[in-house]
Amino acid sequence: MKREIEGFEFIDVNSDEETGARFFIAVHSNALGPALGGIRMFHYKTNSYGVSPEKAAEKDALRLARAMTFKASVAGLDLGGGKSVILIDPAALDLGQRALLFERFGKAIDQLHGKYIAAEDVGTNEEDMVNVRKQTDFVTGVPGEAGDPSPVTAFSVFRGMQACCFQVFGSESLKGKTVAVQGIGNVGFSLLHYLGKAGANIVVSDVNPAKIEMANLRFNVRSVEPEEIVGVDCDIFAPCAFGEIINKDTVKDLKCKIVAGAANNQLASFEMGSVLHEKNIVYAPDYVINCGGLISVANEVVVTGSAYNKKEVMQRTDATFDRILDILKRSEAENSPTTEIADGIALERIEKKGC
Ligand code: NAD
Repeated sequence: MKREIEGFEFIDVNSDEETGARFFIAVHSNALGPALGGIRMFHYKTNSYGVSPEKAAEKDALRLARAMTFKASVAGLDLGGGKSVILIDPAALDLGQRALLFERFGKAIDQLHGKYIAAEDVGTNEEDMVNVRKQTDFVTGVPGEAGDPSPVTAFSVFRGMQACCFQVFGSESLKGKTVAVQGIGNVGFSLLHYLGKAGANIVVSDVNPAKIEMANLRFNVRSVEPEEIVGVDCDIFAPCAFGEIINKDTVKDLKCKIVAGAANNQLASFEMGSVLHEKNIVYAPDYVINCGGLISVANEVVVTGSAYNKKEVMQRTDATFDRILDILKRSEAENSPTTEIADGIALERIEKKGC
């Protein structure tokens, strides 16, 4: 059922009768174009404040959709912001049930007639996108086109880190810099390739021991327990797991000079941007630095009308360096948090379009 919400285009919430899953499709804005954003599949639980899984899933979809509007705008894409969440325990599904679930989700997307275009996100994969495509054209990230966006996201994060190093240390080189990566999933693991090649000292953490094992086999890394990573003495802290990792409890533990990572909604509140600024920690706004995946899937035929162009994608993603550096320089000149500068840039472009 589609519902209007203040400050958003709408949220569409449905139940999947066969599995009991709940579908949330949030569209924040269509001002610059169709709302492109990933499908997150996650088993939200009732939290310590008594917030129900449904409320938590809806809140996440809305917050993430809003961030997508800003991400597309700063990256210079004519796209709006949207995000969807499938609330279910993925472990409860066998492969056949999962495939059919994504087909039914595809139907729900199709009923929005292109106002929302889907992509991969946390908990979903290329195969899921293939199943969505069986019911709608409004999905990206299927094999043969952009495919998995994560390696391109890792590239934008790496270029953004280099810009931060240029601003803080006077050189974009990461050689000898210590980078603490929280979460070595699709993006985090790809990022390790770039960091390894650049000669960084890498510290990792993940709640999944198999990921740590894999990282140890492939790279020269040191691992710490999940609860230790925020407090690691390092040059760069790279959040690549979930959101809200920078909050009033964790911010005092940070021992880094730079926060630059892939996770969406890294700051628990807007105020955290000012706290980091006051602490003289350079923060690369999440939706600016993690734009690579969006740039990649936005290059697909369903959006552009022409074939996927990898060279163009990598050039646009490479420019993350300039976009981040511009924000950092303005932040310094205006003595204003990078979050405020980035939001200003995003909103200016949307307003210029006359929307
Ligand atoms: P993923 O699910 O593949 O990886 C997340 C990793 O974090 C997993 O390995 C998981 O075990 C680990 N993790 C979870 N909780 C943790 C904790 N408390 N401490 C340490 N590790 C923990 O997801 P991904 O696709 O790599 O995305 C990572 C983040 O980047 C997400 O916030 C996502 O929204 C964001 N992002 C991803 C893309 C993309 O292209 N995939 C694009 C933009 C933003």
